[in-house]
Amino acid sequence: MSLTDREPEREPDRDRERARERDRAVRAAVARGLVGPDEPVAGLLDVDGVRRSAGELRAAFEEFVAPGTPVLHAFAVKAASLVPVLRLLAREGLGCEVASPGELALARAAGVPATRTVLDSPAKTTAELREALALGIAVNADNPEELARLDALTAAAPSAAPLGLRVNPQIGGGTIGAMSTATDTSKFGIALRDEGAREWVVRAFLARPWLTRLHAHVGSQGMPLELMAAGVLATFELAEEINAKAGRRQIDTLDIGGGLPVNFSSDAVTPDYRAYVALLHSTVPGLFSGRYGLVTEFGRSLLAKHGTILARVEYAKSAGGRPIAVTHAGAQVATRTVFVPEAWPLRVAAYDAEGRPKTGEPVAQDVAGPCCFAGDLIAENRPLPRLESGDHAALLDTGAYYFSTHFAYNSLPRPGIYGYAADPDGTLRFATVRTPQTLEELTAESGAAHTEALDGLGGR
Ligand SMILES: *Cc1c(COP(=O)(O)O)cnc(C)c1O
Repeated sequence: MSLTDREPEREPDRDRERARERDRAVRAAVARGLVGPDEPVAGLLDVDGVRRSAGELRAAFEEFVAPGTPVLHAFAVKAASLVPVLRLLAREGLGCEVASPGELALARAAGVPATRTVLDSPAKTTAELREALALGIAVNADNPEELARLDALTAAAPSAAPLGLRVNPQIGGGTIGAMSTATDTSKFGIALRDEGAREWVVRAFLARPWLTRLHAHVGSQGMPLELMAAGVLATFELAEEINAKAGRRQIDTLDIGGGLPVNFSSDAVTPDYRAYVALLHSTVPGLFSGRYGLVTEFGRSLLAKHGTILARVEYAKSAGGRPIAVTHAGAQVATRTVFVPEAWPLRVAAYDAEGRPKTGEPVAQDVAGPCCFAGDLIAENRPLPRLESGDHAALLDTGAYYFSTHFAYNSLPRPGIYGYAADPDGTLRFATVRTPQTLEELTAESGAAHTEALDGLGGR
């Protein structure tokens, strides 16, 4: 049995407490009108929960690494591309892993220094690379052509930026193909087991004294921990081989990626960072010896359990005998769940018009979104207390990749996002993380400045 499919180590009291806190947040968000007839959907973020996860990540590594080892936990910005969240994590000691000019801009806006930023991405332009080198941001090259660009750029202007190479240990995939970055044909990094590839990588390092890091991110949701650890082991062994051939510690830092899966089926946090780091420690003891600095790139596992999408039920109806709750949360905020429901099931909690947990006999019903296509369903045939118009549906564990990664279908606006935490006296306070997108902004982003642009084109 693998660590990931073992029955979660239950901490029922803590799990129940988390559920109660979420109930309080929903009630308060409705009472304050953050969600209501005019703003029918919003994202809620448990700020102390995010702090707790960041602390657990740090503590897990601190427990196992040799004292004095440099460790940078670079949060994968795509998991929550929200400036105040990046800043919150930065204040908890994390940096940022960015994969586009936009993500880099967000990290910089959050005040994350270049020395705590790592640039990955399979498609960096020369201009992006040049800027990263000028800023001193760590860059992981993805492929031989990108390495050649770095050759030219480093020859033209010396840079203090730590430079590395991403490899794909090709250790296999997890349960979700689209999340598996270490299959034989994955698009990321140098495929190590391809013929001649390993020798090529060794030569590439020996020819470039400035190449000092090795990077692998072998997958995300759906990956068994054992497979992730096997990927890290393969990366470590390659670094050892390169350093032995170089006759010096040329590779001084290993970037082991992120990818800790999240449990979407209950409030239990499993697997946790400690379980993963303990497994890494037993699989790759040398990783913790202090001979290598470490970079991690966790995303989903830091945020997912701390976010809730709260949506008003606009209408309750039925079709073919099945009740349907038509809500304001659909593909625009839960894109993966709507398009690939088998891989991304979400828990839904039912609340009444005042935001109190609904009780009552569970009735199998569909929870639908507002988009104009039939498949816009968050849950099908899900037993829940029957939702009525004016009630609220909450999509649980949506703190990563969901409300922060909006899909502009039907020109639905990006919803507001609010962080919450309890004051010492227990009162819940909210802070705006992102204001709801206005119709003016939406129109402007849809080309309003060019309204007449097509009038004079063609048509002759
Ligand atoms: C997406 C990504 C991550 C984060 O993955 P999670 O599953 O959210 O932890 C880390 N590193 C790279 C290179 C990624 O593309």
